[in-house]
This record gives sequence, structure tokens and C-alpha cells, in this order.
Amino acid sequence: MIDMSTPPLNRRMLLAALLLSLSQTGCHRDSSANLETDRQAKPALRTASQITAEQANLPKLYLTQKTHRQVVAEGNADVVIDPQTGELAFRTWICRNPDCPGRKPGGEPVQFICYDPLYYVKPDGSVDYKIVQDRIAEITRLGGTPWPLCPECLKVRNLANETQEEQRKYVEFCVEYVLPESERRMKELEAEYVHLITKERERRESVK
Ligand SMILES: [Zn+2]
Repeated sequence: MIDMSTPPLNRRMLLAALLLSLSQTGCHRDSSANLETDRQAKPALRTASQITAEQANLPKLYLTQKTHRQVVAEGNADVVIDPQTGELAFRTWICRNPDCPGRKPGGEPVQFICYDPLYYVKPDGSVDYKIVQDRIAEITRLGGTPWPLCPECLKVRNLANETQEEQRKYVEFCVEYVLPESERRMKELEAEYVHLITKERERRESVK
């Protein structure tokens, strides 16, 4: 407690000392304000899980099955709803077969979807998936493809005579399409990850 019997000048000094000690130890708001200032001065490193979460959720291109409308959506869903038409839109794939008949004159690969008719839109507007006995058979029966399959290569393939090796090759030609802006951001995130690992290694070495 402050002794009020001390002369006024000393009381002021005591009060100042008391206020200083309170601001250093007690008040939570003051300490978080200091942290905020520190963070602004030197941006805090994001964690590895924050970086990988952003990588997984980078914008992706989706195509609707019938109208081939393009929908760009963030996140990691297999299927999204086209906000314009309410149709389901599926992730876009490309075929990297150098001899793919769907290749454009400029060499750009054909884009296609891996259509899965077991997805459907519920009355409440959310997406659900039908549970069936034989998923692959049912997808095929309804005109879908259980795994990515280039529709252009399919036109020149002889499925009946293909070896397993040839079949595997066609599956490997199919890769997910990545939007140019997502590809650029992915490179930045990879660099951020490397920076984080380097800083973490430096920190560990400094405390040894
Ligand atoms: Zn192809």
C-alpha cells in the first residue's frame, strides 16, 4: 500500500512506480497489446499445418457434366454446386498423353471430369452421395467413370485387347488440372514452408 503520510513529491513517485509495476505484471490487455506491436514489427511465422491447409484449399477448377460450365471454388471438395445453374460441377482433369487425340493445335491438353453420378443435390441444397452395393458397377451403369479416364483417348483405345500395363499407362496420363494462379501460389507456399523449416532448424541449433 502507498503510505499517504509521505510528502507529495514522494507520493507521486510511489504512484508512478506502482503503475509501472502493474503494467508490467498485471493487466492482460496491456501485454497482448505489446504482443500485437511485436507481431506487426516482425511478422510471425505461420505453422506447417497452416501452410499445408492453404495448399489443400487453393482454388480449383470444376466443370458441370452436361453444360461444361466452369466453376472456380476454394476448398478440397470433389464436387461443388454451380451457383448459376444449381448443377453439380466436378473437378477438372487433363490428359498428358502426348498422342492424345484431344490435344488442341497449340498442344494444350484436353480437360475432362471424372463424372460420378452417385453425387446428388439434396432438397436443402447440400451435396450428398448415394450408398450402393457395388459402387463401380453402379457408376458405370449410370454413365459415369469410377476413376479418371480421358474421353478422347477412349475413342482410339481397344479396351478388349489392352494389357494391364497399357491400362495403367492411360490412368497415369490423367492428372488433376491446376489453375495458373493456384500453381503460382503453391510455389510461394512451398517457399514459405522451406523458410519455416530453415528458421526452425536455426532455432534448434541456437538452443543446443
Ligand atoms: Zn487423352
